[in-house]
Amino acid sequence: MIRLKKINNFEYFAPSTLSEAVSLLAQYKERAKVFSGGTDLLVQMKQRKLTPEYVIDLKNISELNNIDYKEGEGLRIGATVTHGILSSSQLLPEKFSLLKEASLAVGSVQTRNRGTIVGNIATSSPSADTPPALLALEARLKLVSAAGERLLPIQNFFTAPFKNILQGAELITEIQIPDLPPNSRGVYLWHSKITAEDETLVGVGVVLTVNNMEEKICTHIRIGLGSVAPTPMRAEKAEDFLKGKRVDADIIKQAAEIASHESLPRSRAEYRKEMVKVHVRRALTQALKKIEE
Ligand SMILES: Cc1cc2nc3c(=O)[nH]c(=O)nc-3n(C[C@H](O)[C@H](O)[C@H](O)COP(=O)(O)OP(=O)(O)OC[C@H]3O[C@@H](n4cnc5c(N)ncnc54)[C@H](O)[C@@H]3O)c2cc1C
Repeated sequence: MIRLKKINNFEYFAPSTLSEAVSLLAQYKERAKVFSGGTDLLVQMKQRKLTPEYVIDLKNISELNNIDYKEGEGLRIGATVTHGILSSSQLLPEKFSLLKEASLAVGSVQTRNRGTIVGNIATSSPSADTPPALLALEARLKLVSAAGERLLPIQNFFTAPFKNILQGAELITEIQIPDLPPNSRGVYLWHSKITAEDETLVGVGVVLTVNNMEEKICTHIRIGLGSVAPTPMRAEKAEDFLKGKRVDADIIKQAAEIASHESLPRSRAEYRKEMVKVHVRRALTQALKKIEE
């Protein structure tokens, strides 16, 4: 059972510009915490796992609340975009439907209406739902601090359970996702623990590209896995196996077995590995079906 305690006293800031937020973070560094939807942060504060002296709320910064898609360039998602907004957005082309699927896997309607995709990444839980989809989409994160900005592939972001590469005074302002080539589709599937929170036991995001519908040769493939290693991970051996091959039921089955072997679950390992096999197979099969439709 999780024990909730009285939250510590803190000073609350609600800046209306990004430069203001960045200066506050530069001033207070590790003593401050950024607040987006608060669905993780407030729980951690109530558990006294985090006791920030300063809380910097990003929600009043209008430039962070945008979704933008440009053909050929790709998709940009601002730091305060919630799972609710993303999963119901008309701005996302069908080819990015796996992102909606991943956002819809997060908690209940209430949680999705407050929680953000960027907050989901920044918490860096190994079982978070959106990172496997974002890994499969080869997303980049825009990190901003008083010292400047940098773009980081999401694959290099997670370092350990609930740990990431963010420096004390850095924040994520945007997720950038490159556009997908023709004949590409993605799928996110997950399998939950049977608990009150329905925490994800295995999450699988795939993005598959084939040359054409006659030959169905795999030209590009990314497979992201969640909850089966200390951090969200890519199944790179399975990706290498698929590349250049005609995608059919037998090849998909073999790729799913390779992905299962390379996953690194720490608990309930045998069951999780079996679920990786099942869900990678299903996700690849569904991605191919989506391309065919
Ligand atoms: C009942 C419940 C059910 C849940 N179910 C799921 C689930 O099924 N799947 C799942 O993946 N998650 C789940 N979650 C976790 C949570 O809702 C998500 O991780 C959510 O996306 C977090 O977003 P947020 O905006 O609320 O983050 P916040 O709580 O505001 O922040 C989370 C962390 O990220 C940091 N942070 C926030 N924004 C930034 C930024 N722009 N730059 C740098 N750091 C930042 C904060 O300082 C904090 O450390 C659940 C939570 C609850 C309470």
